[in-house]
Amino acid sequence: MKISDLNGVGAKRAHALNLAGIYTVSDLLNHFPRDYDDRSQIKTVGELILDAVNTIRGVVATEPENAILSRKNASSLNITKIAIKDHTGTLEIIWFNQPYLKKYFKKDSEYIFTGKVRTMYGGRIQMQSPDYEPCGGADNHTLSGGRIVPVYTTPKQFSQKTFRALIFQALDAVQVRDAKMQSHFNESGRALPRGAAGFGAESHFDEYLPASLREKYGLIERKTAVQNIHFPESNEKFLSARHRLVFEELFFIQRILLNLKESITTQPGVPMPDVHFQPLLDNLPFALTSAQSNVLSEIAADLASGGRMNRLIQGDVGSGKTAIALAVAYVAMKNGYQAALMAPTDVLANQHLSQCEKYFQPLGFETVLLTGSIGVRARREALTKIESGKTAMVVGTHALFQDGVVYNNLGLVITDEQHRFGVDQRLSLMKKGEHPHTLVMTATPIPRTLGMILYGDLDISIINALPPGRQTIKTYCVDSRYRERLHNFIRKEVFESRQTYIICPAIQESENMSEKETPKAELQNVLNYTQELSAALPDLSISYLHGKMRPTEKQQTMDDFKQGKIQVIVSTTVIEVGIHVPNATLIIIENAERFGLSQLHQLRGRVGRGDAQSYCVLLTDTKNDETKARMKAMTDTSDGFKLAELDLKLRGAGDFFGTRQHGLPSFSIANLYKDMDILKQAQSAAVEQFEMSPAEAVALEKRMVQVLATTRGGVM
Ligand code: ADP
Ligand code: MG
Repeated sequence: MKISDLNGVGAKRAHALNLAGIYTVSDLLNHFPRDYDDRSQIKTVGELILDAVNTIRGVVATEPENAILSRKNASSLNITKIAIKDHTGTLEIIWFNQPYLKKYFKKDSEYIFTGKVRTMYGGRIQMQSPDYEPCGGADNHTLSGGRIVPVYTTPKQFSQKTFRALIFQALDAVQVRDAKMQSHFNESGRALPRGAAGFGAESHFDEYLPASLREKYGLIERKTAVQNIHFPESNEKFLSARHRLVFEELFFIQRILLNLKESITTQPGVPMPDVHFQPLLDNLPFALTSAQSNVLSEIAADLASGGRMNRLIQGDVGSGKTAIALAVAYVAMKNGYQAALMAPTDVLANQHLSQCEKYFQPLGFETVLLTGSIGVRARREALTKIESGKTAMVVGTHALFQDGVVYNNLGLVITDEQHRFGVDQRLSLMKKGEHPHTLVMTATPIPRTLGMILYGDLDISIINALPPGRQTIKTYCVDSRYRERLHNFIRKEVFESRQTYIICPAIQESENMSEKETPKAELQNVLNYTQELSAALPDLSISYLHGKMRPTEKQQTMDDFKQGKIQVIVSTTVIEVGIHVPNATLIIIENAERFGLSQLHQLRGRVGRGDAQSYCVLLTDTKNDETKARMKAMTDTSDGFKLAELDLKLRGAGDFFGTRQHGLPSFSIANLYKDMDILKQAQSAAVEQFEMSPAEAVALEKRMVQVLATTRGGVM
């Protein structure tokens, strides 16, 4: 059914709906409310609550009036006034500057109103600018009052009221149509064909979850769910409607990811007969931990299987993922392929470049860098080297998958710090080759349930141990009164030839950071902090780093810090991921309340990368209990997975992934944090086999195709 089949939808409105992604009546019905307004309690005049929003039903008692109110220093107001009455009394209602309402309201007719009631001068009570709707009509229903009222994100051209009415009309139309279809087939005595009410293209209340599944997981029918998600008959019905729809959404996404996984891993991968990592490993200054070796064997098995590798390596900060990446890239090159390694920041890409050069040069492979900031000439040269295949190893940032980058026999793509990239970006890089093997690395531990819906298409390897000799990083939480004393701490570390990181949330004072907890003035910023610290510790070499510096400047500063020319570096979170300076033993995090647990853990991971005892000091003046719980978790545990679980619990999925939740599909109704329990059920359902009639199987399959096309943006 087309959207223009509905009453009141002409070309203009149809266009507005299309812009909001609504083309069919089904689309419209799948546009769920963003909120609800409970107007189910209808008051009488005698029951009205002053200075609150009330819903009231009443008969217009007198002819509506318009009056002009002139005001000093402002344009005059047109006031429409009516009086309504019920068996307990009379209420005055006014609207401003809507003179046409005078004609709209008819004396002796009944309407329902929702609006704020105020006490006026002299003790009169008045309702101002309420939402209104006539009562009566065929089935005496009202949409905007006397019920739980849906609130939508409306397309342009639509008020809440008109949109609400349109949804209602659509529900009605579909219902009538489905009923007709049903009775037609029943009367004709034939069995319902596919496509008749229940399953298939013609019904808008398609049920695509098999009855056996619905029964097992206690899900109501889709038809009832859709009706009640828009116009809940009661709170209970609303809850079961939402439950059903959330389940459905999560179920399909999970199932699609699992299918995607199967289809990728059963594709033939580019052949790599020689999976002998040893020559590279021999050059490393350490022996692999058994955790690393295990992961490498899993990778070797993938490559030797003839299938296509699609693997995620999760390993806590400092667990040694880079060595794995190097070994796998080496094998790809040895087999005659190009390998690409993508990192989220310039600084990290440069760090990888120097590692690659160090270990690959002796083995005869050249490395090229491609980032957005290498300059036109360097870029041109890099592109030529990549396209000609002269260079086998390509390292860079997002620049690696841009148009115009042409690879030569790309056989392996590696994404480092995947949580900083979206699934689509990972796939864009993959598409640069013909079925290249894929390795994805992340240090952000994701609780298992979420991992499945984020990385459900990947095989997962876990590096579950740190290299030997690492000491636990001693972590303390102090308030700002200790700041001065920390100066001695810094001095002591520097005196022992160690280095220090200091993290500030802002770059400079004027920075506009709206934040609930920390008033702006108290936010530590990199530039002022560096000045003040330099004044306090004039004999130390102190410098700063932040994301707005020029790339060359950043690189120079990082190099100087690595070489120990800079003893103390004051930085924003640009150093959060991947940066490796083993001689740094102290990290001080200012305004620690501003960071989530996973992020704090990442930051802490900048130290403790050598043999020396390392320290992390969290500075905060917070009074907030939740923040205190977070700080305590940091001082109590160094296990990234435990911290991630806790972070999720304390802050919810939205904050957990922060602004970088790119990897996550966008949901139309599910809320991963709130719906964690439903997610778990949907996940177990996604791997189960259910008894299905042929029609049910078809409906399920068809829905998968639809969801794949819309939700994942056609990722295949
Ligand atoms: P991450 O997993 O956070 O990317 P890195 O790959 O940067 O960790 O490794 C952190 C440090 O540990 C590096 O200095 C690396 O050389 C070192 N390292 C990696 N594996 C081992 C090992 N098996 N034994 C000793 N040191 C190792
Ligand atoms: Mg790393």
